[in-house]
Amino acid sequence: AEQTPKKRIAIFGSTGSIGTQALDVIRAHSHLLEAEILTAQTNYQLLIAQALEFLPNAVVIGDTNRYNDVKTALAHTDVKVFSGEAALEEVADFDTYDIMLTAIVGFAGLRSTLKGVQKGKVIALANKETLVVAGDIVMQQAFENRSPIIPVDSEHSAIFQCLVGEQRNPIEKIILTASGGPFLGKKPNFLVNVKRDHALQHPNWSMGAKISIDSATLMNKGLEMIEAKWLFNLQPEQIEVVVHPQSIIHSMVQFEDGSMKAQMGLPDMKLPIQYALGFPERLKNDFPRFSFKKYPQLTFEEPDYKTFRNLGLAIEALKTGGNKPCVLNAANEIAVWAFLKNRIGFLDITAVVEKTMAKIPFIEKPNLAEYFESDGEARNFAASIMKM
Ligand code: NAD
Ligand code: MG
Repeated sequence: AEQTPKKRIAIFGSTGSIGTQALDVIRAHSHLLEAEILTAQTNYQLLIAQALEFLPNAVVIGDTNRYNDVKTALAHTDVKVFSGEAALEEVADFDTYDIMLTAIVGFAGLRSTLKGVQKGKVIALANKETLVVAGDIVMQQAFENRSPIIPVDSEHSAIFQCLVGEQRNPIEKIILTASGGPFLGKKPNFLVNVKRDHALQHPNWSMGAKISIDSATLMNKGLEMIEAKWLFNLQPEQIEVVVHPQSIIHSMVQFEDGSMKAQMGLPDMKLPIQYALGFPERLKNDFPRFSFKKYPQLTFEEPDYKTFRNLGLAIEALKTGGNKPCVLNAANEIAVWAFLKNRIGFLDITAVVEKTMAKIPFIEKPNLAEYFESDGEARNFAASIMKM
């Protein structure tokens, strides 16, 4: 029988939570998928181990101090070794991969994602911050270069799956589900004292540090509202959030006849990762299946906007547009980083984001250079107000 060629996957951020789970998916479907490029920022030991197992064409270690370690460890293989920030764009420019999985965290993923888009590659998009920061530019370039963007974020994968076969049917609204995070039901008098280790304990998902904190502050859901706007071309009023603590319904779409579609399953990021890499096919797996006996109740409630003020700030950025989401994102990245270093309190994250949004001059239609400037200005200002 004819062998269909394997899809060659470039994983940008292969050592993270999404990256390692993507390699689990590739390992389980090695007859269909193969790793072509792997990149990591600092964890060179894991990158080496991954390279020795998957023998990709190329790897990038961001930290240039580790280039020699990686080069030496892979000297007996054909794996090409690159290092430094610019190398990410260099390997993104390769012709030898089919799908770019954007699993770098934060603004740092923007340039390489844009390069993949300009190459017309299929983008399996985990890095939501790239759309939050420069969604207009990323989507416009994707359109011009016919680069399909397939969401990996579980909510957006759910919506994408609900939309298969509905190309002609306008969306009335979407409903993003939120777990509520580890502090669901808590009030400011409790939150003022929470520490990083508690905030990192998510009830339903095991994720990287930054998104875990974003889930605890509800900023993650705000970023996802902005991500959804760009992915599905929606107005802010068409995007709703509901807290659904069991994380079984991953999101919903309501059509113009009032009918709603939901996508459901156990919370496991391997599912949306696998869907994006296998699309349009669904790949058979033996992951645990959902059982109504274990989940006799699925519940829904309004988010507590008064306590989790990040969500309101993100909605403000969503409605204002321009460079506001970029500024929100930059301030949040800096504040979350400071919280993870125990330098500021949990509620200070919101204060830093709010003050930075008020400070940085508004630009209605930024170009790419202006997004980079706004990002830099917002980071500097956020850092300056945290020097207490
Ligand atoms: P993580 O922190 O576990 O991993 C991040 C990866 O990016 C690592 O491989 C790291 O080496 C690399 N990296 C970090 N900083 C970098 C830099 N400055 N330059 C180049 N590479 C860098 O993060 P994660 O949880 O896997 O999340 C990755 C992205 O996916 C984020 O944008 C996140 O919002 C999104 N996402 C994650 C999940 C999840 O379950 N983890 C779910 C939905 C969306
Ligand atoms: Mg999500």
